[in-house]
Amino acid sequence: MVDVGIIGSGIIGLSIARELAGRGLAVRVLSRKPPRQTTSWAASGIFPPAPAFSAAGPGEQLTTLSDRLHRHWHQELLDETGINNGLATCGGLYLAVHEAGLTRLRAEANDWQTRGAVTEWIEMTALGQVEPALAPAADRGLLSGALLLPEETQIRPPRHLQALEASCRQRGVEFCFDSEVQEVHLADGRIDHLKCSHGREDAGVWILAGGAWSQRFAEAFGSHVRPQPVRGQIMLLSKPAAVLTRVVNVGLEYLVPRPDGRVLVGSTLENVGFTDGTTESALHRMRAFAGRLVPALADAAMETSWSGLRPASPDGLPWIGHSPNVTNGLVATGHFRAGWHQSTGTALIVANLLTDTPSPIDPTAFAVDRLSAGEDFAEATMQRAAADMAAISW
Ligand SMILES: Cc1cc2nc3c(=O)[nH]c(=O)nc-3n(C[C@H](O)[C@H](O)[C@H](O)COP(=O)(O)OP(=O)(O)OC[C@H]3O[C@@H](n4cnc5c(N)ncnc54)[C@H](O)[C@@H]3O)c2cc1C
Repeated sequence: MVDVGIIGSGIIGLSIARELAGRGLAVRVLSRKPPRQTTSWAASGIFPPAPAFSAAGPGEQLTTLSDRLHRHWHQELLDETGINNGLATCGGLYLAVHEAGLTRLRAEANDWQTRGAVTEWIEMTALGQVEPALAPAADRGLLSGALLLPEETQIRPPRHLQALEASCRQRGVEFCFDSEVQEVHLADGRIDHLKCSHGREDAGVWILAGGAWSQRFAEAFGSHVRPQPVRGQIMLLSKPAAVLTRVVNVGLEYLVPRPDGRVLVGSTLENVGFTDGTTESALHRMRAFAGRLVPALADAAMETSWSGLRPASPDGLPWIGHSPNVTNGLVATGHFRAGWHQSTGTALIVANLLTDTPSPIDPTAFAVDRLSAGEDFAEATMQRAAADMAAISW
């Protein structure tokens, strides 16, 4: 029997598996689909500047811890597997498109400065020197302000997941990628075994990292663990050569350039339950956004499009900790829009909890039973997001 079984092969499950196997534990990962079919594979991989520790709340502390660890993991994964996960500090531009947007952007700039990030206002007349593909939009008066965050970073999710899986295999992690967990059997306040589509699974400790689907196992792992699925759609445009060098953000919409000429266009925040897939209307809007902001993208071929379901929690913090219901269960889910950025710190905290080791940040803010039942994050988030979009988008 393995020491630890993990439900989920997304960024959270694989990161935890790697960390635990690195500490000498025997680990088995179960998931009903391979990593390339997870929400994690579908993500954009943007890491905004990590806040300074002193100014940070618990979620920001987790981001900052993780951001530092990502720099180490990048090199370790490269050394261990030969796979470069594409972690690169490319910088991010935040653009305002009208007066309300500019007011909003000024407030955001203050926030970033308070959190210790480097910020630089770019005059409209100079925007074309910073990012030539944005010159036409600036010249046509479509933009009212531009803020540069030089520390913004990107990672290539598919490459990182491939590197994680390879590293896990080298560390002896077992995988079962076509196994749906159907039931969690309890006995004497413990998880006795799991009933899966391919049969029974046993482990000393179980970790729930099932993303938006984790709520199915709330009874065993903690009745408050009820992440809500929030769909995000992405379109991949392709040009023969790179047209942008930085991530470009306008409100909740963004362009993420890859060095090979591909550009990710994202995204949506949709409360549509577990309905996956893309919609004509969202793709149309994203294409119009890209073409209007960067005319060079107006004729770009759409290579493909996809969607993922982000796991949202009521208070915006993930659940990371021991299950209040069983003695051999831990939870790591609910990372919503920051699962990639916060993955390494989450893995560290889970491994520390499991091995009774203190963590660099206090994990109690992420406790599994911290919320009262019935709190509904998705609705509140949707309303905030809709207001945000109205204030700052075209
Ligand atoms: C469009 C989009 C863009 C994003 N961009 C960013 C970004 O730029 N930066 C960032 O930090 N985050 C981003 N995110 C958020 C990030 O992708 C998520 O927070 C993260 O992927 C969640 O990872 P996870 O491992 O918890 O869940 P998932 O990736 O959903 O993995 C869940 C796993 O559980 C398995 N599973 C579920 N139920 C069962 C079951 N019953 N039996 C067996 N296995 C099961 C699934 O098969 C899967 O392997 C984005 C998300 C989307 C959708």
